[in-house]
Amino acid sequence: MANTTTPHVPSDHLMGVYARAPLAFERGEGVRLYTAEGDAYLDCMAGIAVTALGHSHPKLVQAVKDQAEKLWHTSNIFRIPNQEKLADLLTAHTFADVVFFTNSGAEAIECAIKTARKYHWAKGNPEKIDIIGFDGSFHGRTLATIFAAGNPSYVEGFGPELPGFVHAKFGDIEALKKLVGPTTAAILLEPVQGEGGARSWTEAELKAIRQLCDETGTLLIYDEIQCGLGRTGKLFAYEWADAPPDIMAVAKALGGGFPVGACLATVQAAAGMTPGSHGSTYGGNPLAMAVGVASVEELVKPELLAHVREVAGYLNQQLSGLKDRFPDVVLDIRGKGLLIGVKLATPNREFMQYARDQHLLIAGGGDNCVRLLPPLTLTLEEAREAIGLMEKACEAAQAKAREETAGAA
Ligand SMILES: *Cc1c(COP(=O)(O)O)cnc(C)c1O
Repeated sequence: MANTTTPHVPSDHLMGVYARAPLAFERGEGVRLYTAEGDAYLDCMAGIAVTALGHSHPKLVQAVKDQAEKLWHTSNIFRIPNQEKLADLLTAHTFADVVFFTNSGAEAIECAIKTARKYHWAKGNPEKIDIIGFDGSFHGRTLATIFAAGNPSYVEGFGPELPGFVHAKFGDIEALKKLVGPTTAAILLEPVQGEGGARSWTEAELKAIRQLCDETGTLLIYDEIQCGLGRTGKLFAYEWADAPPDIMAVAKALGGGFPVGACLATVQAAAGMTPGSHGSTYGGNPLAMAVGVASVEELVKPELLAHVREVAGYLNQQLSGLKDRFPDVVLDIRGKGLLIGVKLATPNREFMQYARDQHLLIAGGGDNCVRLLPPLTLTLEEAREAIGLMEKACEAAQAKAREETAGAA
């Protein structure tokens, strides 16, 4: 009872893996989140690129309600019509021919890794197991995905390094070429790194990697869990480079807040995935698929993608202005579309607090970045508001930095 009457006394009974902000929300609408007291926050992180259509999008709400009253779960041993519909939708708009549905991004990556290894195994090359990943990448928190990304702070303490994961330097194509060898199965990368600090591969680099894969019989896996589904202003980030993968993981925006992920592949790359080789109890269940269909039907709209490009252009230009005006706070603006990284000279955790003080929610990121990942539906007016709040956060960070410099002198 105590917890329902005093919602702001945190419980001790959650595993302590998050350093949570002392803030809870009761409801959301569009780009706003509201606390139980009715305080409004401008949500420019969207649950880390998840609520791409904003909170309580009427079509998604309706899809959940309608499906909830009909059927929640059967099993993948039966046909699930909306799974077929969502797979048809996703393949119609991508390089892919086939889809496996999961409940999360990490599971979609797991499926991608398994698909790649099984492809080579089925072709009579069982020695091809190595997945080449890059520094600064993030692929989820399962054992395989932490070792695929290789972030030292995420693997520490979790036992021996899993075999079959190799790492290359972000952006170094020549070094990558030397790494590809007889045991290489696939190259795994985010076309625009999310957690790593919104670092984008160039179009020329992605083309070169595609060519390297073609020449060496290596599969190319993209992790578009964060940068995909409209976030960069194209439906998928790889479209900017015209360098499609063989396998791709998506999630986050796919369910707009309902847990759904998917592993997409060409029919050739998925050749090893035969009956019994993979599965999931919940993956692709009727509830998730109803929301997924509603969500993707919105996300593929050309006018939404054009809107993303317009708002992203505005935000980029304005943030560059802040960089010029606050050189001792903002060092760089990077990323693509509405996956925006602001590299800071002052600690990013402190900056996020200054933003929260202004009722602006932004995400952290590697390389001392903060990320702006607003709903794709953010209007120009709301973008202007976000810039105004970012400016105030910059002022606070600058004041703190100058105070510290004065103190040190
Ligand atoms: C969030 C994310 C994941 C992991 O997704 P989960 O649903 O948390 O498992 C993997 N890759 C990228 C690029 C992500 O942003």
